Amino acid sequence: SMASPALLMRVVASAYSVAEKAATIVRNVMSAGDLGIVEKAGPNDLQTKADRLVQMSICASLARKFPKVTIIGEEELPTDDVTEDLIEDGHCDEILKKPCPAQYTGIKEEELVIWVDPLDGTKEYTEGLLDHVTVLIGIAYGGKAIAGVINQPYYNYEAGANAALGRTIWGVLGIGAFGFQLTEAPAGKHIVVTTRSHSSALVNECITALNPDAVIRVGGAGNKIIQLIEGKASAYVFASPGCKKWDTCAPEAILHAVGGKITDIRGNPFQYNKEVKHMNSAGVLATLRNYDYYASRIPNTVKESLVP
Ligand code: AMP
Ligand code: MG
Ligand code: MG
Repeated sequence: SMASPALLMRVVASAYSVAEKAATIVRNVMSAGDLGIVEKAGPNDLQTKADRLVQMSICASLARKFPKVTIIGEEELPTDDVTEDLIEDGHCDEILKKPCPAQYTGIKEEELVIWVDPLDGTKEYTEGLLDHVTVLIGIAYGGKAIAGVINQPYYNYEAGANAALGRTIWGVLGIGAFGFQLTEAPAGKHIVVTTRSHSSALVNECITALNPDAVIRVGGAGNKIIQLIEGKASAYVFASPGCKKWDTCAPEAILHAVGGKITDIRGNPFQYNKEVKHMNSAGVLATLRNYDYYASRIPNTVKESLVP
């Protein structure tokens, strides 16, 4: 008989189904009409009922199956019992059928850290820019992002009633990434994607220094990595603190699984061990191709303004 699948593959397969349940919650909260918006640090740092319910759903569902895994979610929530209707216990069979890369077959539950952004792009969600929204489940081992799931609950929402709404992208280092069509950005063009709701003088100074052919301003770290892997943009540039480990873990795993690169604006890799500081204080620089072109053009003045 077949050996039981490796822990990593079981976690990814479960995270896939948990993220699909999360997408249903995101859509249901919006269609019910009461977003229950709470300001966290200020008007550009929001939490909705969807952020709260989805975090409870993801964290409780994964903790029930994998009790020794460390799970770190964005939202600070009371530790009330989660209602049974929020629990997802399914998994994606297609993922379980893939062989686990040899270097990950011996991983134990205690060695995994899962970084959860229940709803990335909350500001845009509250403004009706629905396809900017993603649900992010990133899986780290040895301080590195090794696997991730990005669900986009409103993918296709402007494509008409016949188009299937929502999609789930997943990836594992050494296997690849699935659920989308990998596409190269236009050759010879420098198209930068950056924040739309968290700009600053430094963010703009950095982009100007790159002399891009075009700048795309959209919400969400997950959404911006999708822009890179689908060839809409050639670099994600964010010269600002504000992005956190739960914003970058799942996107990093998927980008790295297809040969891209993400670091802070100074070129340092991100760490994802459970003790790490949450804030990505030195910003974000990510590309599918030509990382060195962009890294070599970030001004030293910008690098020096961002302390890791
Ligand atoms: P953005 O590109 O502005 O959508 O930001 C990507 C992620 O980082 C989102 O989860 C934002 O909430 C978060 N983020 C970036 N800058 C800030 C900030 N200044 N304050 C709070 N959250 C931020
Ligand atoms: Mg986020
Ligand atoms: Mg969030």
